[in-house]
Amino acid sequence: MKKLGLLIIILAVLVSCDTTVNRESTKKAKNIILLIGDGMGATQIYAAMSVSEKPLNIEKFKHVGFHKTYSINNYVTDSGAGGTAISTGNKTANNCVATDSTGKAFKTILEYAEESNLATGLVSTSSILHATPASFFAHEKDRNDYENIARDFLDVDIDLFIGGGKKQFINREDKLNLIDSLKARKYIVLDDLESFSTETEGKFAVFTAEEHNLSIMEGRGNMLPEATKKAIKVLSKNENGFFLMVEGSQIDWGGHDNDIDYVITEMIDFDKAIAEALEFAMQDGETLVIVTADHECGGLTLVGGDMKTKTIEVEFSSDDHTSVMVPVFAYGPGAEEFGGIYENTEVFEKMMVLLGLK
Ligand code: MG
Ligand code: ZN
Repeated sequence: MKKLGLLIIILAVLVSCDTTVNRESTKKAKNIILLIGDGMGATQIYAAMSVSEKPLNIEKFKHVGFHKTYSINNYVTDSGAGGTAISTGNKTANNCVATDSTGKAFKTILEYAEESNLATGLVSTSSILHATPASFFAHEKDRNDYENIARDFLDVDIDLFIGGGKKQFINREDKLNLIDSLKARKYIVLDDLESFSTETEGKFAVFTAEEHNLSIMEGRGNMLPEATKKAIKVLSKNENGFFLMVEGSQIDWGGHDNDIDYVITEMIDFDKAIAEALEFAMQDGETLVIVTADHECGGLTLVGGDMKTKTIEVEFSSDDHTSVMVPVFAYGPGAEEFGGIYENTEVFEKMMVLLGLK
């Protein structure tokens, strides 16, 4: 009886060790579209929901969880460490993109996906070299090392990227012309989204700005939803499936500026990109859509408002990021895995399992 009791205890411990994701699960999703709203906490979302004339697409998700954003050296993360946690499953120090603090590379989900012959893509409303997208393809311990981050594009076999940052490919201290290098690697390099035809076969580098894209208030227009739609169209041609990361970068910058109009216009634009992802996933049936943030920004509080007049009264408590956990929304095969409260690194683990990459 003693032995049986011990066995039961051991079994009970084993069962309780089971973490939030079902590691036994076989591949469930053919494709993943991961949308990251930089600086998008629950208040940024609710602020946009409160003033929007119609319900936001983000309200359609049935599976919602939260992740803890702290980095390895700071209770308040930056987009480098926040992005790295999601892209590689490793907590790192602030400022690092897909490396530890000594510069040792962590392999990203985009690299794993490439290895398994999935199509891969990145879309961003900032420079494509900025910390969030960089966390998915580059390996630099300094997120501001844009020249080396641009060069890291030559070491990854990404199928498509759309965003700003062209300057760092041609106007360089080392005098290299990385546009020529991309062309030598069979990339079709374009300077605007309009000339990007989804009928053309090939790998694409689409530069939508020399540095960062404009904000919505400055006239960026439909760039993000349009880029998302085109990226999905191209990547979904791959029979093995695809991994696409789409970033709404400037929700964060509205937070840093303590500018609620900036936050809301970027938030509503990001929601239009979510609509494109959901529309595809609903028809396709094999696509998992995940919407999350790397961290909150601005310490945004809604201290008053009126649902009838669609007005809000806000306060910001910071011009920087804050530590509060951020929401995760999921739709599609495996979406139920994203309920609960977990570490930001778990987003990576769950995606890897569901795509059958781990
Ligand atoms: Mg970012
Ligand atoms: Zn920020």
